[in-house]
Amino acid sequence: MIRRQGSSTLLSKEPRRAVSSSRRRTHDPTRFIADAMLGSLARKLRAFGFDTIYYKDGEDSTLLELAASEGRVLLTSDRALSERADNRRIMSLVIMGSKESKRLVSLRFAADAKGLVLVRGPPRCSLCNGNLERSPRSELANRLPAGVLSRHRLFYRCVLCGMVYWRGSHWKKLRWLEKRLEQDS
Ligand SMILES: [Zn+2]
Repeated sequence: MIRRQGSSTLLSKEPRRAVSSSRRRTHDPTRFIADAMLGSLARKLRAFGFDTIYYKDGEDSTLLELAASEGRVLLTSDRALSERADNRRIMSLVIMGSKESKRLVSLRFAADAKGLVLVRGPPRCSLCNGNLERSPRSELANRLPAGVLSRHRLFYRCVLCGMVYWRGSHWKKLRWLEKRLEQDS
């Protein structure tokens, strides 16, 4: 995924394909909430199919409330915050590293250590976490450069913010990053 340009607005839906964790019903989506330091990671996780809130402003206590009420796994680089989550029985993963690839590997190891099975849903909008739907090329004629339209066949649009995505030149890099979440990478 891809690239974008946007306008319109629709409603969101729950992910169609499920994702699961050991503490939740099998096949329930793994849903994350990432703290303020992990915005870039949050955007990648959305593209990989994880319903992810990026919590960039506000109190840690509110973040923990949100994680608890929505059953989201907290992603943070702050060990003290992770311990606060643990004390409230909120699953949290401590993310190490400054590069995205290292952070994704760190996420995988932290999930393994806690017995959390990562299962993804369909790719989501990296900007706003909305669901994506197929968008016919004919509807994009006035919104995308002709070269892009002619070189690509599949386009997706965010149902919330209207961003349009396609498998552009950074697709390979994104796939490479996505593989950091897999066991044998
Ligand atoms: Zn969006």
